[in-house]
Amino acid sequence: MTSPSEQAHRTQGKDVGLTLCPSCKQLMPHAENHCSRCGSILALRDYSSLQKSWALLITAAILLIPANIYPITIFTSQGHTRHDTIFTGITHLIDLDILPIAVILFTASILVPILKICGLTIYLLAISFRLPISKKRLMVGFHVIEWIGRWSMLDLFVISITAALVNMGQLLDARPGPAATAFALVILLTQVAAKVLDTRLLWDRLESKDDAN
Ligand SMILES: [Zn+2]
Repeated sequence: MTSPSEQAHRTQGKDVGLTLCPSCKQLMPHAENHCSRCGSILALRDYSSLQKSWALLITAAILLIPANIYPITIFTSQGHTRHDTIFTGITHLIDLDILPIAVILFTASILVPILKICGLTIYLLAISFRLPISKKRLMVGFHVIEWIGRWSMLDLFVISITAALVNMGQLLDARPGPAATAFALVILLTQVAAKVLDTRLLWDRLESKDDAN
């Protein structure tokens, strides 16, 4: 049996006929189709967002393969051409004793995309298959994905550092390799996958009666 206070805690907007405008966050009766303040279309829950998010996430995961096996940069210096994948690029920087940039490159190019894809997969699995994961863990996961999202700009930072370093030497010519397109798409698709998902679907899952802890 649940106490009246627990029951009150579980009451959601949809139970009392209210929904939130996705654009301006105005509280609206869900019988309305459009927001009275900004005119946005109101939806109680966007169930198709789960499908869209899965499609984007799976595409991103597949693109991670060409992003890592093909060269991401092609350097030409004094007649020598060097093809670097993300991994050989990092080992090359370690060989050259440029450890701070190697660490940034590893974090931005390998750690952040993999953590984001794994985090989003667990998050989507929890909603789709009602996995027996505790509320607390799901909440931690949600904050981790949000926190990682802020570090996506790190990739742009790495690209600008690389461009600045390359432009210092007149004899050096650098071009992006085929993996660069795949990598940019991985970053873009994971961002969009997290963005399109209606997070209220997770709150529904968290507030369900069969979720014990
Ligand atoms: Zn609005």
